[in-house]
Amino acid sequence: MPVLVMKFGGTSVANLDRIARASKRVAREVANGFDVIVIVSAMSGKTNELVGWVDETSPMYDAREYDAIVSSGEQVTAGLMALRLQEMDIPARSWMGWQVPVRTTSAHSAARINEIPTDNIAAKFGEGMRVAVVAGFQGLGDDGRITTLGRGGSDTTAVAFAAAFGAERCDIYTDVDGVYTTDPRLTNKARKLDRIAYEEMLELASLGAKVLQTRSVELAMRFKVRLRVLSSFEEYNPEAGTLVCDEEDIVEKNVVSGVAYQRDEAKMTLISIADRPGIAAAIFVPLAEAGVNVDMIVQNISEEGRTDMTFSCPVNQVARAEAAMQAAKTSGEINFHDLVADTGVAKVSVVGIGMRSHAGVAAKMFDVLSREGINIKIITTSEIKISVLIDRKYMELAVQALHDAFELEKAA
Ligand code: ADP
Ligand code: ASP
Ligand code: MG
Repeated sequence: MPVLVMKFGGTSVANLDRIARASKRVAREVANGFDVIVIVSAMSGKTNELVGWVDETSPMYDAREYDAIVSSGEQVTAGLMALRLQEMDIPARSWMGWQVPVRTTSAHSAARINEIPTDNIAAKFGEGMRVAVVAGFQGLGDDGRITTLGRGGSDTTAVAFAAAFGAERCDIYTDVDGVYTTDPRLTNKARKLDRIAYEEMLELASLGAKVLQTRSVELAMRFKVRLRVLSSFEEYNPEAGTLVCDEEDIVEKNVVSGVAYQRDEAKMTLISIADRPGIAAAIFVPLAEAGVNVDMIVQNISEEGRTDMTFSCPVNQVARAEAAMQAAKTSGEINFHDLVADTGVAKVSVVGIGMRSHAGVAAKMFDVLSREGINIKIITTSEIKISVLIDRKYMELAVQALHDAFELEKAA
């Protein structure tokens, strides 16, 4: 029988009623003739609570124990969903990551999936099981321990299963009815897109649109998984949601198709470091080893052989970054006068494949921000996106102003 993957995010399994509601969706697809692989998240808020407990117990935690703890939310929802389906007389069972097994790297808290053997689940389907409820987000590391795939990782579990099983489609059920031109919680002018190209979705996701985890879009693009984002709260409709697909399959083409933001960024500046060959490596290698995700980087003009180096990273990694830099200073690898952290910044980005063939998007973006009196601290660009780092207090204003200026509320 054809296989369908259905993923339910935290709000879609937030309590027993919601789990029952989601189970009805699953039952409908079983009736439609699919063998279904359901991927579940933890109940909404659960993972945050678990992460909070870890932080409170050990701020510089051992990531292997972090994974043992934060993966547990998905175990509960997988079991509950399987029980609910059994109550509906649908042959179903739960699978934890290690039981499948979802084989991953041992990069704890940010593991990548290496392989998903299909034989165990396929054999059960062969014996008449109709639904495999798999705990998302978790896997079995090549060190033999439980891993997690990074926040939002259940999306990636879902796409990886769809690729491994050659699924008909991968449906991501969430609390919005599709992918919008920007976060619909930020402006009511956000418009739902019927389709979005893999590449644009990849940029939007990596720039902060958390509706899909970045890695899930990467996998969907690579394995040509038909990926659909839709609401678990609306009535069943086979046309619902947003399809993430190839660029060629899209008629509507705006120059800019979306605006994304990352709220909790920090800007760090190393003041007066020696401007010599190897200095960037001497800074960024220890940061990488400390697990700091450096994003934007600017090296300022050098004067008398000294320069300033500025970079951005998530605000919750500032302590790690500071510790790594102080350690590098103590060991003599680098020398700086001061390390200044600005923890009140955010990143706003505009994305669109139309930028490849249209000049002037950056100029327009900077003009819009200047009219709003918003100062830009760092700029980065790629072929299909422009990002700026600004004061966090202007983030909503910037997103709304850009959404208006690029007329995203109107279809092309
Ligand atoms: P789930 O728990 O189902 O995985 P998430 O909270 O991870 O859900 O992702 C859904 C949320 O993503 C929405 O509630 C919305 O606020 C946010 N979001 C951000 N950008 C976008 C966008 N461009 N389109 C749709 N949703 C977006
Ligand atoms: N529960 C995990 C998280 O909140 C994974 C997911 O929901 O995708 O990040
Ligand atoms: Mg999510």
